[in-house]
Amino acid sequence: MGVKENLAKVKAEIDSISKKCGREGKVKLLAVSKFHPASSVLEAAEAGQILFGENRVQEASEKFCEVAKKFPAARLHIIGHLQRNKVKEAVRIASCIQSVDRAEILDEIEKRCAEIGKEIEILFEYHTGEESKSGFESEDEIRAALGKISCGKYPHIKPRGFMTMAPFTEDEGAIRASFKKLRELSILMQSEFPQFDLKELSMGMSGDFRIAIEEGSTMVRVGTAIFGARNTGNNQ
Ligand SMILES: *Cc1c(COP(=O)(O)O)cnc(C)c1O
Repeated sequence: MGVKENLAKVKAEIDSISKKCGREGKVKLLAVSKFHPASSVLEAAEAGQILFGENRVQEASEKFCEVAKKFPAARLHIIGHLQRNKVKEAVRIASCIQSVDRAEILDEIEKRCAEIGKEIEILFEYHTGEESKSGFESEDEIRAALGKISCGKYPHIKPRGFMTMAPFTEDEGAIRASFKKLRELSILMQSEFPQFDLKELSMGMSGDFRIAIEEGSTMVRVGTAIFGARNTGNNQ
């Protein structure tokens, strides 16, 4: 099946599951196009897809130059671990950085946004499952970062919510527990920082987006189920 058909199938599934949980229309789809060519992204965009996710800034930058020209409405989210020296390019090309996984990176994001006068949305990546490596380890560190944003230290940074990756396992209970942990964090932080809108819960991938929606996901990040298997030896 082609990208267009896969996309339609994934969307139909999202609709049907979210309807069952009484959350119809509440779940956005981020199409994760890493390791797939610009032609695949264009195919998805032609089929009406607007939100795209990429792990690597360099790769995204090359690909999205072409996509943005044809589809000015397309938006890019960075979802992979962001190195400091890639932040400048990341803030130039992305509307959201979902993989804010440590406090120090906020200084660099603010600096680079200020240089070009751009505001950027961010999600805090939270470590909720044993097998994933990235993300904030503690709720206190996230609280401290939100505290700094609320004091005006990062005027170009708009916090919107949280992101996580569930452990790669067949154990549905463990996956569910991971998503539940993110939801609980989000409820707690929203109550402590009512001045921000922290409702975005980016959770769920090709293998577990059904569970994620049941657990309150507002954005699923789906790659393989839309674009097919990736041409890479590792799981990045
Ligand atoms: C690759 C990736 C995805 C998409 O994974 P699939 O299993 O291909 O759907 C989602 N989120 C992150 C952070 C990723 O790195």
